[in-house]
Amino acid sequence: MKYLIFRVPSSAFRVLLFSHLLSPFLLFSQSSPIVLLHTNDTHSNFERYTEPGLGDVGGILQRYSFIRETRNQYPNTIVADAGDFSQGTPYFNLFKGVPEIELMNMLGYDVVALGNHEFDNGSKALTKRLKLANFKIVCANYKFKNNTLSKLVKPYAVINISGTKIGFFGLLCDMKRIVMPNYYKETTFLDPIISAQKTVELLKNREGCDIIVCLSHLGFDVEFPDDITDRILAEKVSGIDFIIGGHTHKLIEEPVIVNHTKILQAKKNGIYVGKLTITH
Ligand SMILES: [Zn+2]
Repeated sequence: MKYLIFRVPSSAFRVLLFSHLLSPFLLFSQSSPIVLLHTNDTHSNFERYTEPGLGDVGGILQRYSFIRETRNQYPNTIVADAGDFSQGTPYFNLFKGVPEIELMNMLGYDVVALGNHEFDNGSKALTKRLKLANFKIVCANYKFKNNTLSKLVKPYAVINISGTKIGFFGLLCDMKRIVMPNYYKETTFLDPIISAQKTVELLKNREGCDIIVCLSHLGFDVEFPDDITDRILAEKVSGIDFIIGGHTHKLIEEPVIVNHTKILQAKKNGIYVGKLTITH
């Protein structure tokens, strides 16, 4: 197994990171490796822009090229996002989050978690635009009273790629302190640890998954004292192979390993794309 994180390039790629040895249980029969590309907190950033200290960064076209080239090279590529693809530029205010979904469809995202900012114009508006999504949407620790939303958002999704079953489940932070109550009122927050334990159990025993990935919008660092972070999640729930994190905009250049779980996060705004390669 190998992990790299890429600054989305204007032309040439710059490799920032790290690779480490294959865990013995991750052995597969197919010859082509499975590649998992991931982003988080892209926050309605479509255009390349100047980030202090980093120069020109991001851009949806550049991300598209990077994903397309990876897919051309590795047909077994999955593209995932850990939430907060909405809010952050005037595009969101003008077009209410619709282009974000349409562009993620064009980029070929496979599975996406919800972030708190997805609720910034209310759960009804979110429901409307999630209907446009061609990708699977996962969140295991909220109950949705809005019927359509509960049909669109599932606790988990299983992607079978070349005979390997990968289970993805989503977790979303408690929105009570960070989103206006009126906007998330059709939702009920459930304990992320209990939800994760139940979902991991289902993915392993009922679905027979070979790999379990949590798309977490809980955050890496503590924001409020009672926060459940990715690190706490990994400590308390065994059996998650990878936590692809979001919410705290952290750049994790080398996977953080807690209780055999590898925690990843790719900063924000589409500046980086993480690339996890699982080989023989
Ligand atoms: Zn967030």
